[in-house]
Amino acid sequence: MSLLVSIQLCRGVLVPLGALRLGARRYASHSFQGSLNLPKTTFPTRPNLEKVLAELVPQASQEVYKAQLQEFVEQISRIEDPSERFKFAAERLFVLHDGPPYANGDLHLGHALNKVLKDIIVRYQLLAQGRHVYFKPGWDCHGLPIELKAIKQNDKGKRMSPVQIRSIARRHAEKTVLIQRDQFTQFGICTDWEDPYITMNAQFEINQLKVFSQLFHLGLIKRQNKPVYWGTETRTALAESELEYKEDHVSQTVYVKFPLTADSQQRLLVLAPLKTPITPNTRIQCLIWTSTPWTLFSNQAICYNDGMEYVLVHLSQRDEYLIISRDLLDQVGIAQDYEILSEFTGACLSNLKYTNPMCLGGTTEFPLLPGGHVTNVTGTGLVHTAPGHGNEDYMVGIQNNLQIYSPIDHEGNYDLNEVSPELRPILQDPNDPQKGRNVLLSSTTTHIIEFLEGQGMLFQQKSYTHSYPYDWRSKKPVIIRSTPQWFTNLTDIKQLALSSLHNVEYTPLRGHNRLEAFIKTRNEWCISRQRSWGVPIPFFQHKTVPDKVLMDSNLIDHVISVIERDGIDSWFESEEDISKWFPDEYKSVAHEYVKGKDTMDVWFDSGSSWTVLRDFYRDVLKLDKCPEQLANVYLEGSDQHRGWFQSSLLTRVASSGTPFAPFHHLITHGFILDSKGIKMSKSIGNVISPKDVIRGNTKVELPAVGVDGLRYFVAQSDFTNDITCGSTVMHRINDSLKKLRLTFKFLLGNLNTSQRPILLPIEQLRPVDKYILFTLQDLVSNAKQNYETFNFGKVLGALQFHLNNELSSLYFDICKDSLYCDPEASLKRRQIHTTLFHILNTYRALLAPILPMLVQEVWNNVPCDWLDHSNMAGISPMRLLLPDFSRALEESREECNRFRSIDMQILAVFKEQFKDFAPDITKPGQLSVDVYIRKRDNIQINAQELEDLLQVAAVSIHAVEDLGAEHGNAVHIPGSDSVVAVQAHKSTLHQCPRCWKYNATAQQKLCHRCTDTCNPVSTDVYNRV
Ligand SMILES: [Zn+2]
Repeated sequence: MSLLVSIQLCRGVLVPLGALRLGARRYASHSFQGSLNLPKTTFPTRPNLEKVLAELVPQASQEVYKAQLQEFVEQISRIEDPSERFKFAAERLFVLHDGPPYANGDLHLGHALNKVLKDIIVRYQLLAQGRHVYFKPGWDCHGLPIELKAIKQNDKGKRMSPVQIRSIARRHAEKTVLIQRDQFTQFGICTDWEDPYITMNAQFEINQLKVFSQLFHLGLIKRQNKPVYWGTETRTALAESELEYKEDHVSQTVYVKFPLTADSQQRLLVLAPLKTPITPNTRIQCLIWTSTPWTLFSNQAICYNDGMEYVLVHLSQRDEYLIISRDLLDQVGIAQDYEILSEFTGACLSNLKYTNPMCLGGTTEFPLLPGGHVTNVTGTGLVHTAPGHGNEDYMVGIQNNLQIYSPIDHEGNYDLNEVSPELRPILQDPNDPQKGRNVLLSSTTTHIIEFLEGQGMLFQQKSYTHSYPYDWRSKKPVIIRSTPQWFTNLTDIKQLALSSLHNVEYTPLRGHNRLEAFIKTRNEWCISRQRSWGVPIPFFQHKTVPDKVLMDSNLIDHVISVIERDGIDSWFESEEDISKWFPDEYKSVAHEYVKGKDTMDVWFDSGSSWTVLRDFYRDVLKLDKCPEQLANVYLEGSDQHRGWFQSSLLTRVASSGTPFAPFHHLITHGFILDSKGIKMSKSIGNVISPKDVIRGNTKVELPAVGVDGLRYFVAQSDFTNDITCGSTVMHRINDSLKKLRLTFKFLLGNLNTSQRPILLPIEQLRPVDKYILFTLQDLVSNAKQNYETFNFGKVLGALQFHLNNELSSLYFDICKDSLYCDPEASLKRRQIHTTLFHILNTYRALLAPILPMLVQEVWNNVPCDWLDHSNMAGISPMRLLLPDFSRALEESREECNRFRSIDMQILAVFKEQFKDFAPDITKPGQLSVDVYIRKRDNIQINAQELEDLLQVAAVSIHAVEDLGAEHGNAVHIPGSDSVVAVQAHKSTLHQCPRCWKYNATAQQKLCHRCTDTCNPVSTDVYNRV
């Protein structure tokens, strides 16, 4: 029952939309039908999706984009003065920079939300501001997910060279870009899909390497330790993709005691008093658990959870006092002979210190630190933390300034030079005292456990079967070891980055705080990855001492020039002689080195994409400098504060050394949820694809709403928050679209006239026409404000309101009689036509950014004389400016106010009275109206105009001295002291068989107007102004 939406078009009676055509037919179903001007148009009631995709999308999108950009380039090329050229670009060009989607998988609704929002903004600039736009779509192509797909595609277990991996990954990305491009095209995006930027294209990669080179040159690239998975056999860092998890790996785990310092013990006892006092010499100890005893020498902290419950227990047999998580007491396997002396939350452990008797005679103090990663699933609730040997440990270490200590070499042996002297005898290889013990040997573990026992630290030892990562090449267990990684040092540019944020506008405003918080808390950015599918970090590693590396500015620039010449894959080829990669000054040592195997973090790739804009300014527009903020707008999901927004900002600020972000306005959107507010996911089965929305899906009760329906969905949402999508909202959108189509069909049908179109000057229009233009002008001002503040839903809301209240139930209704029945060339029809054309053109402009396919289709069906006559022919409806009647209406403001307060007041009174005639009288045309006014009020009203407005058979105006009871209830004219009285009564005349108004003097006789119309000799009467 979607046709229930009603529109008041047929002679004052609410009729369903489907009857709109019927209304015309009713007029036609009598003997005078040939004399009526009934609407006719080629504009279809329903859109044909295949036609929309094949014809309207290109016409309204790609063609428009290419033409306007070409026009801009031509215009700017004619300006010779460089500063004028710069100014022209800054004022006339709007740049929205596309954050590149990842080239993997199909598009989901989130992609549609993202691209359509961008597109609405771009399209608004085209027609409202008359600007030109630059909006180049991008794709992010490197990185782990694609590399994993490439590896999976290969035969299981067969090892591929980096060049092979890269080749498969590239093919996969290329294929996906094409698939996604076809899907994006269906969203009707105003851009050039033939000319995207792609992060795996040669020029992009060279630009990115040059950004890296700049950062290095500025001293912002450094190499420092970070824990990575390390294969001790293959002597290499391993990516997650190079690991195989063995489910039945057996580790020797130990429970180990670390004593609190005397001070800390005192503090704890104050916070958590004991039930039974202890002697002053008693030492309270923290109990930890680890499955890698070899890392205990690197312990730097013990982590606890603030919110977890801990206990201090006394073990009577061992006479030990231990702190442990209450929930894990049983798991530790403490016998029954314990007593809980005190219970407290983790927060009581804050700021306490302990010592590690294994190292430096137990003199150094280490902190207890809170950590959200501490749980009470396994262990003791107190976590041994070695920042050099674990990722969570590392994060704790970075946050608390702990040493990232990892005294293990690339073969997995203790590095005796790195351990403190008193430990060397313990950790040296019994067969080769120059070497350290290998941490993976069970003899080493046994030796360490004996050592712990000797130190009085061992509480318990257990073997433990669990899942453990192995190197997929060597099939040996891996270790986590700190190795030097490449970092961008953010400390030095943080201030610049933070001050750049003050020159940025944010929608919604909270984006500022989010982005600022992320940048404030970040000190470094690890940009190296041990992967093949990416842009290489140009450095060289010593063959025998892998931690020794070679990198300097000359070397980087030389490598870039070789990549430019030989292609980026040549870096990944295994070469006997790598001297071509070295500039002359290094050629002699080239044989000692191998090419570095690290590639860059993909955030560095997409973060460098502002270079696309720089190149456009420089190479296409031939500007000698770029605007400080390269793009007017960056718009992405709110997760990009920690992702692309940040990496773009950091690379730009760092390489330019100026406090300017690459964007002027930062807009973020939420995510799309199902109708119950649940995240869409394949496993739940609640995913709605853009295709489901466009083509409909009966399984999930989605109507086919087409390209514009998808766009309507995006526009009506409050995109700054998460958005729900389901059957109800899509049905509502479908109804709204139908109503818009029928409105356009009505407008087009009635503008199709055999008379030459004449757009009358506004001063020659009737008050009611001017009133409608005033409402259009308000609508335009309102829409401008809402488009500029990205409240697209409010644009649609105001337009729907206008459509319902000013058009459907007022203007369209009252002009049908004239449109159908008046002589073709009558002035009133021309006044109406003029108004209808302004309505059409205003609705065209207001809807073009959101519903371009509908607008294009409407425009293709506008009788071309109208466009010729209005100087609009040959210009895309996407680029015709928003209409502005404000100046033309200036003179008519008073007249319009009068109409609003008097005529509309009379209409309101009449409508009330009309109800009292039911059920005998069903149409206003059966009634006549007497209007009484006081002479002294000097009210200006026109009987003919009121007759049209009220759609009655006749209106008589009587000016009297005073209004009395015989005139009925007098009502006040708003905003004045004047009064008016209205009296409707049954018309005493007969129904005219042509126009059906009761204003014929005899039965079956035409009324005056119809007589004149059917007798063209007298049509002059209607041509008077
Ligand atoms: Zn008539």
